[in-house]
Amino acid sequence: MEKSLILVKPDGVERGLTGTIIGRLEELGLKLVAIRMLRADKDLAERHYAIHRERPFFNDLVNYITSSPIVAAVFEGEEAVSRIRKACGATDPAQSEKGTIRGDFGLDIGRNTIHASDSPETAAVEVETFFGNEGTCEYTRIN
Ligand code: UDP
Ligand code: MG
Repeated sequence: MEKSLILVKPDGVERGLTGTIIGRLEELGLKLVAIRMLRADKDLAERHYAIHRERPFFNDLVNYITSSPIVAAVFEGEEAVSRIRKACGATDPAQSEKGTIRGDFGLDIGRNTIHASDSPETAAVEVETFFGNEGTCEYTRIN
């Protein structure tokens, strides 16, 4: 079954949106199989966003994601990656449709409230990055 990693970014945690965001994804019928709050350090942030290392926004991105606690979670379900990306909306909240997480809550392209894995392969790496030590849980989701 497909897994996807999400992060509630600092602007989401600080505005008390964690429950709302996790709830929206649970309401899709996806199964929450791991969750933790953490303050990412520079090393973790740089590893998570390594693909963007050469981009002009990389330093701002790393500074932002390490500026305050985040909530990491893993959801499991059919097509979890694409369904969560759709629920998140476009990267830039100004371009995201209403009803999506970023469209409803995102402040700007940096403070866009949520990260979500962009492919099942990326998800596997990201789940290992954030939950490698504890792993994920197994249970039956009753809808
Ligand atoms: N980002 C930014 N400026 C940009 C592009 C991206 O600050 O011009 C940030 C934005 O917060 C985004 C993150 O970098 O969520 C990762 O970028 P990506 O293109 O992977 O977007 P995502 O997968 O998060 O939609
Ligand atoms: Mg991305």
